[in-house]
Amino acid sequence: MRSFQFYNPTRLIFGKGQLEALKTEVPKYGKRVLLVYGGGSIKRSGLYDQVLGLLKEIGAEVTELAGVEPNPRLSTVHKGVDLCKTNNIELILAVGGGSVLDCAKAIAVGAKYDGDMWDFAQRKAVAQDALPLGTVLTMAATGSEMNSGSVITNQETQEKLGWGSAYSFPAFSILDPVNTYTVPKDQTVYGMVDMMSHVLEHYFHLDPNTPVQLGFCETILRTVMEAAPRLVEDLENYELRETILYCGTMALNGVLNMGLAGDWATHNIEHAVSAVYDIPHGGGLAILFPHWMRHNIDVKVERFKRLAINVFNVNPEGKSDRQIAEEGIDALSQFWTSIGAPNRLADYDIDDSQIEVMADKAMLFGPFGNFKKLQREDVVSIYKASL
Ligand code: NAP
Ligand code: FE
Repeated sequence: MRSFQFYNPTRLIFGKGQLEALKTEVPKYGKRVLLVYGGGSIKRSGLYDQVLGLLKEIGAEVTELAGVEPNPRLSTVHKGVDLCKTNNIELILAVGGGSVLDCAKAIAVGAKYDGDMWDFAQRKAVAQDALPLGTVLTMAATGSEMNSGSVITNQETQEKLGWGSAYSFPAFSILDPVNTYTVPKDQTVYGMVDMMSHVLEHYFHLDPNTPVQLGFCETILRTVMEAAPRLVEDLENYELRETILYCGTMALNGVLNMGLAGDWATHNIEHAVSAVYDIPHGGGLAILFPHWMRHNIDVKVERFKRLAINVFNVNPEGKSDRQIAEEGIDALSQFWTSIGAPNRLADYDIDDSQIEVMADKAMLFGPFGNFKKLQREDVVSIYKASL
C-alpha cells in the first residue's frame, strides 16, 4: 500500500423515511436555501412537494434553480452562482441524481469565488471555500453524494471535465431507497454500470499488498451483478434498491481506494465522448471499459485473471492466464449487455468521424491513467475498437 490519509466529512443519512432529517440538518446552516433540481422527475414523483413541505415547516426561505441537465452545463452553474449571490444563500440543497449534485457542488464553490468556476475544472485555480451543500439523492450511480468530485460540461468549448476540492463534499446526504423507485430501467442500468466502473477503476491499480481493497471491490461487483438482473425486472423492490444504492455510495466514497491509486483512464475517455455526443455516462462506460481492458490486459494479466475467477466464476482448468483473463472481460461485456446496456458506439449512432476530436479532448492534460499511462494512439485505438 502507499501512505494515505482518509477524510470524509459527509454525514450519510440512509434509509426509509429519512427525508425528515432535513428538519434537523438544514437549520444548522441557515434559513436561505437554494433548491437545485433537474428536469422534473422530482415533481412527478412527489418528492418536490415533500421537500418543500419540510422546508416550510422549519421556516426556510427557498430560492429555486430547476432544469439541471443530465451532463450538467456550465451555463446552469453560472445561473446558480448568480442566484446564490443575489439572494445571499446560506445552504444549497440538491435534490436529484449525480448531475444535479455535481452542478450544486460547482455552484457551491462558484458562489465563494470571484472568478469563473470553470477555472477549477481547467486546473487554473483550486477552490478555497464553498457554501455548504446538502443533498437528497434520487438515483444510485455516481457516489457524488459522499465524495468531493463533480463533472461539468462547457457547451461552448465542448469540454466535459471532472474537478474536485476539499470544500466540495456534501455536508449531509439523505438516501432513501424509495426515492429511487421511479428511476426508469435504462437509467437504473446506467447507474449500475457506472458504480461497477468506479469499482473497476480502483481494482486496476499497481500498488502492492492491497488484499482487503481487492476483496472489497470483488464483493461490491458480485453484489451488483447478483441484484441487477432482478432489479431491472422489479424496479420497486425495496431490498434491491437499497442494496444498489448502498453499493453506489461505497463504490466511490474513498473507502475502496485507501492506500492505492486507481486507474481512471476509462472515465476520462468516456467524458470526451459525452462532451461531443452528450450520451449517458454509464452507457458510454459499458461500451468503453471492456475495450480499455482488452487494450491493457498484458500490463498485469494476473489482475484480470483474478477478476475473471473471483467475480465472473470463470473455470481456470486447462487454460492459460491470458485465456482466463479474456473470458472474464467477455463475461463483463456480456453481463452489461444482458441487463440492457449498449456495447458499441454505433448503438448511439457514433461513427469514426469525431475520433480525432475526442482523442484531443481526452489528452487535454497529457497522457493519463495510473495502471497504464495512455498515449494518444492508445486512446484512438480504444475508440476504434469500440465503434
Ligand atoms: P443524472 O444525469 O443525474 O440523471 C439521469 C436521468 O435520470 C435524468 O433525466 C433524471 O431526471 C433522471 N432521474 C434521476 N432520478 C430519478 C428518479 N428518482 N426518478 C425518475 N427519474 C430520475 O444521472 P447520474 O448517472 O446520477 O449522473 C450522471 C452524471 O454524473 C454525469 O455527468 C457523470 O459524468 C457524472 N459523474 C459524477 C461522478 C462524481 O463522482 N461526482 C462520478 C461519475 C459520474 P431529472 O433531471 O428530471 O431529475
Ligand atoms: Fe462515473
